[in-house]
Amino acid sequence: MKNISILGSTGSIGKSTLEVVDSLHDEFKIIGISTNRNIELLIEQCKKYKPEIAAVADESQYSILKNSIPIGTKAVCGLDGLLEVAVNDKNDLLVSAIVGAAGLIPTYEAIKNGIDIAIANKEVLVVAGAIITTLAKEKKVKLLPVDSEHNALFQCLMGQKKRWVKKLILTASGGPFLNTPKEIMAKSTIQQALAHPKWSMGKKISIDSASMMNKGLEVIEAHWLFDIEYDSIDVLIHPESIIHSMVEFVDGSCIAQMNVPDMCIPIQNALTYPERHNGGIYKSLDFCKIAKLSFSEPDRDKFVCLELAYQAGNIGHSMPAVLNAANEEAVNLFLNEKIIFDDIPKIIMAVMNEHNVIKNPDLKSLFEIDKWARIKSKEIIKK
Ligand code: NAD
Ligand code: MG
Repeated sequence: MKNISILGSTGSIGKSTLEVVDSLHDEFKIIGISTNRNIELLIEQCKKYKPEIAAVADESQYSILKNSIPIGTKAVCGLDGLLEVAVNDKNDLLVSAIVGAAGLIPTYEAIKNGIDIAIANKEVLVVAGAIITTLAKEKKVKLLPVDSEHNALFQCLMGQKKRWVKKLILTASGGPFLNTPKEIMAKSTIQQALAHPKWSMGKKISIDSASMMNKGLEVIEAHWLFDIEYDSIDVLIHPESIIHSMVEFVDGSCIAQMNVPDMCIPIQNALTYPERHNGGIYKSLDFCKIAKLSFSEPDRDKFVCLELAYQAGNIGHSMPAVLNAANEEAVNLFLNEKIIFDDIPKIIMAVMNEHNVIKNPDLKSLFEIDKWARIKSKEIIKK
């Protein structure tokens, strides 16, 4: 029995994680769960999984949680509450599934306490990849990728040596605007941008997929998880989302990982690592039905966000944190109908241009940089 806690249990990844737990019911015990403010679902999850701790990040919801939680579960709130879930000494594994830089501190503290991480919250690695991976190495903590592309790469790289790797090929569905002309994409509505053809996900990552910032963040995530230079990380459009990523080796071999598009598969892989278990809820690939897999190069002139992420990654140091914060703000502004879709890359580019890179930033400077970039993004809009 593995003890697991989930940061962001009410989100898309959080709910899929609990589905995996349901399908392998006697293998996992849920120790802690958390939400930002989806208190109804958190209470429902408490009743079903009887965790020891349940945290709500939004402190104004604490009294509701406290008054409706079943006996045996401790209600906590705010950042301290998230930390209680993250660093609980019973945790064998923490599923880091908060969206955005908000997940950085609890994930960092769990690693500091020697707890293995199933990492979905890619923004943690984008903002603080150097700090997180160095700490994980020092504490001998496993960072098990949940993101489907990175879980695919993780599987392709099993038993391989780093010097044998020629390049990582991250596949991308291309999102809802793959075949939409640039001028029409520029003025698309929220509904159009949220309508992902292959995956049902949280709002922020759905918008990131539409702008292809998601793939850009994933390039940076791959750089940190697998210690590979940006020149050796390619993005390939693959609309069927059957191959989740590939590794090309120096001897000309290329290994691809495939499965039906279902996030429960990479989540289960991370949860049961280093074993493979029969969860019994997954469909096999029907290759005859699929018949054809197609590939093309991404259009970096149209998907400016992908280009910006490569630039930020190559500059390194504090720049990816600026990219991330400006993107989080821009996506929020778009979802609140304050800007049009085309403003997202414009804001990010403007904030990146105004940033003076700080070398090897520590966590404290990263938080200051994150705050600065968010304020700058809003200022740019006012102008
Ligand atoms: P989501 O919006 O559906 O869920 C986010 C979860 O985090 C919710 O439980 C929410 O209550 C919580 N949360 C949000 N803001 C918070 C805050 N400030 N403090 C504390 N908790 C907060 O998002 P998601 O789609 O599940 O994505 C989660 C992470 O996983 C993201 O980093 C995303 O990029 C990554 N990811 C998601 C998918 C997917 O299929 N959904 C796939 C790969 C990677
Ligand atoms: Mg992904």
